[in-house]
Amino acid sequence: MADFLFAPHNPVTVPIARGGLFAVRRVYCVGRNYAEHIIEMGNDTRDPPFFFAKPADAVVVGGAAIPYPPQTADFHHEIELVVAIGKDGTDIAVEQALDHVYGYAAGLDMTRRDLQAMAKKAGRPWEMAKGFDFSAPIGTIEPASSIGHPAAGAITLGVNGTERQRGDLGDQIWSVGETIAYLSQFVTLRAGDLIMTGTPAGVGAVVRGDVIEGTIAGVGTVRTAIV
Ligand code: MN
Repeated sequence: MADFLFAPHNPVTVPIARGGLFAVRRVYCVGRNYAEHIIEMGNDTRDPPFFFAKPADAVVVGGAAIPYPPQTADFHHEIELVVAIGKDGTDIAVEQALDHVYGYAAGLDMTRRDLQAMAKKAGRPWEMAKGFDFSAPIGTIEPASSIGHPAAGAITLGVNGTERQRGDLGDQIWSVGETIAYLSQFVTLRAGDLIMTGTPAGVGAVVRGDVIEGTIAGVGTVRTAIV
């Protein structure tokens, strides 16, 4: 037994449909991937997407409630298709990229929008706007061997039963394969990595007591409540 100062933290895991656990290594996120959301945020659709990350232990599973986070008065939902990487790779070709996908889930890129706006204005990092505790609720992972590689289909989110976000996976500016290929030029992707692939238009604020449910056709759902 190694001489750990304290007990190592348990691995972060996401349940896989029909059994098993996906152990999470890193969580990457695509900054801009649906034109209508880029326009609603006042950005230029010609800009290439970019990446940021959340810590693995920001992941919340099983529909668990999340606390309203500190240091914000503008806590936003972003429904996203989550890609679960199952095979390592660097400089992956677009044509081979989907071979690196184990499966897919619906996820929420929860965002402290006011902190993000301040960070953008000051040219500062986004960590405290994006990578805080409980900021990545994720549904069950469906293996690609069961559902294939969804390239089209509705991606929607409701708050307390009222629809707020609606888009179509077919409207992603960068496909899943292109995103994997591009990201793998910057970092080696490893089995266990998750990629949140951007959100469609309609992002907005939630408050304590709200229930969020996101659905991606052919993939699944993600649900949480704000407490
Ligand atoms: Mn996002």
